[in-house]
Amino acid sequence: MHGYYHAIFRCTIANGATIRTCCPVEEILIEHGRAVGVRLRDDATWGNKTIYANKAVISAAHIKPTFLKLIGPKHLDAGFLQRIKNLSLKGGSLYMTHFLTKEELRYRPQFKWTNEEPHPFAVTFYCMENMEIYWKNLECVLGRQQNLDVPPEEAMWGLVSAQTYAPTMPQCTREGYHINGPLFMMVPTPEYNIDGTLAMDSGSEDTKKWDEYMRKTLSCVVENIDDDNLVQIFHDSPWEQVFRNTGMLGGSWYGTRCDRDEWWNERPLQELARYRVPDIEGLYLCHQSAAHPGGLCLMAVGYNLMHILIEDGIAEPGDWWYESPWYIPEEGKISAKPGQGKV
Ligand SMILES: Cc1cc2nc3c(=O)[nH]c(=O)nc-3n(C[C@H](O)[C@H](O)[C@H](O)COP(=O)(O)OP(=O)(O)OC[C@H]3O[C@@H](n4cnc5c(N)ncnc54)[C@H](O)[C@@H]3O)c2cc1C
Repeated sequence: MHGYYHAIFRCTIANGATIRTCCPVEEILIEHGRAVGVRLRDDATWGNKTIYANKAVISAAHIKPTFLKLIGPKHLDAGFLQRIKNLSLKGGSLYMTHFLTKEELRYRPQFKWTNEEPHPFAVTFYCMENMEIYWKNLECVLGRQQNLDVPPEEAMWGLVSAQTYAPTMPQCTREGYHINGPLFMMVPTPEYNIDGTLAMDSGSEDTKKWDEYMRKTLSCVVENIDDDNLVQIFHDSPWEQVFRNTGMLGGSWYGTRCDRDEWWNERPLQELARYRVPDIEGLYLCHQSAAHPGGLCLMAVGYNLMHILIEDGIAEPGDWWYESPWYIPEEGKISAKPGQGKV
């Protein structure tokens, strides 16, 4: 992903784009029902805080702050705003842990599945013994919405191993060390945790407790995650993710609840289906939480939006462009199908 985004940045810069980092947008400027630009926060690293758009404004930020903070109630219908407030963040909040070790991790004998020696240490999913354990985890995280109280032997998680990556893409750049992770575990969404948003993050004692919990659950599968081998644990709770990356509301990998009513072709509200903001001209959405299809389909949201920008005469792509086979042109607009013109 990291390499992929470098490639995209280089491509956009080569094509004349300007990227301003550390320039949070505080407000989307709207005049007479049209988005005309953005105002940056006072501490943005760019002197001039107001930037006018000569074509359009695209919000690639999470749907909730986009509507609740950057646009605000003065430009929106109260009923529509309520539906944005009602979108649920429940589920999908991940506690991430990385383990820096001296030796490569080794499976306990019962988890080996080949006769190869040394046995590869691959992506791991645990624990899949029975449905009772699954329901126990679910009842706690999604039902009661409380910190995990299942024993580490019954906690459910996945782990990306160091050996997943090609030797040319080492995850650890310190010679002689290995980094395995993330070990990702679904935990309650901090905003809904009944013991408060800081229920997993109230201080160093908490951090130590969860580090140890993650190590214990990993040691159910791995035989050498002991003090001699382990150098450091790096943790990242959902609440920390919210602060590190303002896009990650709820510390959730897909931004909003992953249920039929907020997911895929329902995502997240029908009136936003074509990425335009109702009643505000020149304002488009491009965040995984605001548009079909959503989380993990990383380029799809941008690609779909491109069709709409073409329809509205904002983008005029070159020969490289081709439309999606599922694209249905909108009557009265410029078709995104090359050569078709206005339909
Ligand atoms: C723990 C975790 C693990 C994941 N694992 C994977 C994986 O293995 N594979 C995979 O494909 N996907 C994974 N995902 C999902 C993937 O990261 C998301 O689907 C993707 O990042 C969404 O992209 P986006 O551009 O829609 O939004 P974001 O990545 O959320 O980007 C929004 C951007 O807007 C910026 N922003 C927010 N507010 C403002 C503002 N006011 N002004 C200016 N900028 C602002 C944010 O800083 C952020 O850079 C994971 C997500 C999480 C949380």
